[in-house]
Amino acid sequence: MSPTLTLIQGDITEQAVDAVVNAANSSLLGGGGVDGAIHRHGGPEILAECRALRAGHYGRGLPTGRAVATTAGRLPARWVIHTVGPVHSDSEDRSDLLASCYRESLRIADELGAGTLAFPAISTGVYRWPLDDAARIAVETVRDAETAVEEVRFVLFDAPAYEAFAEQVR
Ligand code: ADP
Repeated sequence: MSPTLTLIQGDITEQAVDAVVNAANSSLLGGGGVDGAIHRHGGPEILAECRALRAGHYGRGLPTGRAVATTAGRLPARWVIHTVGPVHSDSEDRSDLLASCYRESLRIADELGAGTLAFPAISTGVYRWPLDDAARIAVETVRDAETAVEEVRFVLFDAPAYEAFAEQVR
């Protein structure tokens, strides 16, 4: 089954869903943008689990395109799924890595038994991916996914991001 897609303009830290996806960096130790907001609102428990992941299986960091789950701390969600988007490049096509972030996050959500999942617009902030292209990759990848997740909510922070995604789901 492919999930129902919903779009909202808002803040991902306020979403009452089973799992929220974090556009993390490979260090897993926090950053700006969505990552900063998730750690700020979710509290220190999330960072503690991220540190444990770095001390264990992900000693060299989480590779681009992969995903891993932690607690959601004080967020109104059960889990945060951290994924590392690719930095956009004009000289190399990294679309498959961006698609992989969505696929891998859905795979982890299935492992957790999450029925509802919220995504931000991965890689469209400091990683500079053009919004229209990022929205196309996100929507196509989620639509094509074989998953038990029932609802995928794209949470877009501002009007241009919302419009770019709305264009793809029309
Ligand atoms: P990346 O490094 O993957 O580009 P960013 O966090 O810089 O990640 O940006 C990804 C997207 O998330 C951007 O479109 C940005 O506007 C948006 N964003 C920033 N804060 C939030 C938030 N609290 N909720 C949802 N989206 C957010």
